[in-house]
Amino acid sequence: MARPRLGQHFLNRPTLLARLAEAACPEHAPLVIEIGPGRGALTRFLLERAARVIAIELDRRLAGELRDKFPGEERLEVVEADVLATPLGQWGPAVVAGNLPYYITSPILTRIFELGASLRRAVLLMQEEVARRLTAEPGTRAYGFLTVHANLFTRPEVLFSVPAAAFRPPPKVRSAAVRLTPRPEIRPHEQEQFLEFAARCFRQKRKTLRNNLAAYYGPRIDLCPEAGLRAEQLSLAQLRRLWARLEESG
Ligand code: SAM
Repeated sequence: MARPRLGQHFLNRPTLLARLAEAACPEHAPLVIEIGPGRGALTRFLLERAARVIAIELDRRLAGELRDKFPGEERLEVVEADVLATPLGQWGPAVVAGNLPYYITSPILTRIFELGASLRRAVLLMQEEVARRLTAEPGTRAYGFLTVHANLFTRPEVLFSVPAAAFRPPPKVRSAAVRLTPRPEIRPHEQEQFLEFAARCFRQKRKTLRNNLAAYYGPRIDLCPEAGLRAEQLSLAQLRRLWARLEESG
């Protein structure tokens, strides 16, 4: 029996599982961290393409099933734990893959962005709506803080979409496979400060930048031509320029 509370929707199309594994490891990978392996449908394909797979599964029963399914497979390490409580950087540089538990997609993405230089690449199955938010253009409804956050650390691409019927039991929404390629120029400290600024810009999405930022920058925000716009109208590069100008004028 699947546990809906844990987002258990098992993908049962070998062609899609193979495509996910191939996108995660186009060349043989030294290490893959798999999030939510469930019964090991994707794990099997990842083991064909990686020297070592660390599979993090919260459900004790499934973690046990997984160990039984791959007896004597020393290249597989099943970690029975909550992925959100597991520091993903502890194993060094890694590819991250998984058919995610959808109820925690956003916090998992944050953990992946935080990996910085330890992230080789991530290939993840998630709700199509979240996938669209990751790749949205400024000025569209899907564009928001998550878009900015993702694009600051990675280059997100939607690879293919997956109908609900491909899962057992089927989820209520369509899904999509996303590849996140890390940006090489990440400077963690600076990014942290910019992220705080971006979060303030998007705090009340329908309000202008003046409204969202006045409490932090006072009258200085009125000197910016963007003050009357909403954050969702600005690209990541434009938000970065605004941030730099406001910081310089302080
Ligand atoms: N990979 C399998 C597949 O494709 O058939 C299962 C994917 S299912 C969508 C999500 C998996 O994540 C489930 O096995 C669920 O038990 C597990 N899971 C849920 N919450 C988790 C958490 N906080 N940490 C680790 N695994 C979790």
